[in-house]
Amino acid sequence: MYTGNELRDMFLKYFEARGHRILPSASLIPKDDPTLLLTVAGMVPFKPYFQRLVEPPFPRATTAQKCVRTPDLEVVGKTARHHTYFEMLGNFSFGDYFKNEAIPWAWEYITEVLKIPVEKLWVTIYPEDEEAKRIWMTAGVRAERILGDPENFWAAGPTGPCGPCSEIYVDLGETKGCGKPDCAAGSCECDRFLEIWNLVFMQYNRDEAGNLTPLPKQNIDTGMGLERIASVMQGVETNFDTDLFRPIIDHVASLAGIRYKENPKNDLALKVVSDHVRAVSFMLADGIRPNNEGRGYVLRRILRRAVRYAKLLGIDKPFLESVFRIVQRDYAQAYPELTENENFILNHLSLEEKNFQATLEQGIQLLQEKVKDLVKQGETVLTGPDAFYLYETYGFPVELTEEILEEQGLAVDMIAFQTAVEEHRLLAKDQSQQMRAVIESPALMGRAKLLGVTPFVGYEQATATARI
Ligand code: ATP
Ligand code: MG
Ligand code: MG
Ligand code: MG
Repeated sequence: MYTGNELRDMFLKYFEARGHRILPSASLIPKDDPTLLLTVAGMVPFKPYFQRLVEPPFPRATTAQKCVRTPDLEVVGKTARHHTYFEMLGNFSFGDYFKNEAIPWAWEYITEVLKIPVEKLWVTIYPEDEEAKRIWMTAGVRAERILGDPENFWAAGPTGPCGPCSEIYVDLGETKGCGKPDCAAGSCECDRFLEIWNLVFMQYNRDEAGNLTPLPKQNIDTGMGLERIASVMQGVETNFDTDLFRPIIDHVASLAGIRYKENPKNDLALKVVSDHVRAVSFMLADGIRPNNEGRGYVLRRILRRAVRYAKLLGIDKPFLESVFRIVQRDYAQAYPELTENENFILNHLSLEEKNFQATLEQGIQLLQEKVKDLVKQGETVLTGPDAFYLYETYGFPVELTEEILEEQGLAVDMIAFQTAVEEHRLLAKDQSQQMRAVIESPALMGRAKLLGVTPFVGYEQATATARI
């Protein structure tokens, strides 16, 4: 049985032997890329090469790239295959080889190196991509195992390089499936057909107006989830049962005084907590600071969600550091930043955790009272100002409030919430301008009290009040 670490190395070595330069993972903070908050795929660090904004220093590269995908946050633990943070293995061609090499290599790697039985494999193509279909067949895939999927068109973002793609799926068997007659690779979201590898054939550049123009040099960008391929190779039920995850889950379970796989509700919480602590550990290791906006807000939101799910498991005491230690133990060899930036990571984990744990319970109580009132009045929507109060006073990311309400069939008036945030921002701006006027003009000092202006107490102290 291959470990996750072995699977990472095997992939990189396979492509190294085929002329690829092994590069270390880039940071989760995309470099010089205002279009992206976080690194969401292996190709992100190579965008300038694909677009020829920078001449690629080598024609081929292979990486195991750290990725974070916020859109997958809410399905973590509900599907067998999604994480917020995961590693993407990839091979890349910068205007060098194209489909004729990328397809047979992928097929050879899966069927001859990993030896996944061909009977379990399916391939999807972009329906118009006859060229890819022909090459898959030449590589040894039977025609009936190649399905068209109109969604097989990949783009890194709203603009930039893009093109048709092909994906490889493993059939995990009928017992994992939804049983619907049209359940098939590529078109069904259930756990039967597991997407393991996406091969993007970058043929175009998309401009701001949405126009596609052929790239002067065609590129290859592939991505295979390490946790997913580990789940297949280790023959386990979900990504969470691989050696990349299980130790973290078992540790969280021991902190909660429970066992994994005894109760589905607990298992979901164990998966969420483990996933989220691993994600925030890596985000902090790359220097992201918890904040009210941008990637700092994403970090804070994931961290607070971890604290809430831990509370559902009965963990009330600080626990983030102890879970981080397991992540560090298992990953620091491949990712030394987990040790190099240990102080930064620990400081932020403990400050954030303390702030949120202090207010979480009160916030939940208040929310439950509001829910009772709503139900009594036959209402289903929490008002914007109420959601804002939880956000401002108890540090509840609004998405968390939404999620707690959704569990009870209720919703948040998000538009009114946004309005409340905006009003507050304008008020704060106004106050700070008035404050400056007070400071700059001693004659106006006396007005400070009248305006109710609170002196600025410094950033650290302000955040220590658990506001977000
Ligand atoms: P899915 O359809 O399962 O959500 P995707 O099509 O969004 O996956 P891609 O954008 O094609 O994924 O990414 C390439 C590969 O990265 C996937 O084939 C998969 O192996 C892996 N991957 C994508 N998202 C995740 C995730 N949230 N957690 C773990 N692995 C992932
Ligand atoms: Mg996805
Ligand atoms: Mg997909
Ligand atoms: Mg995909």
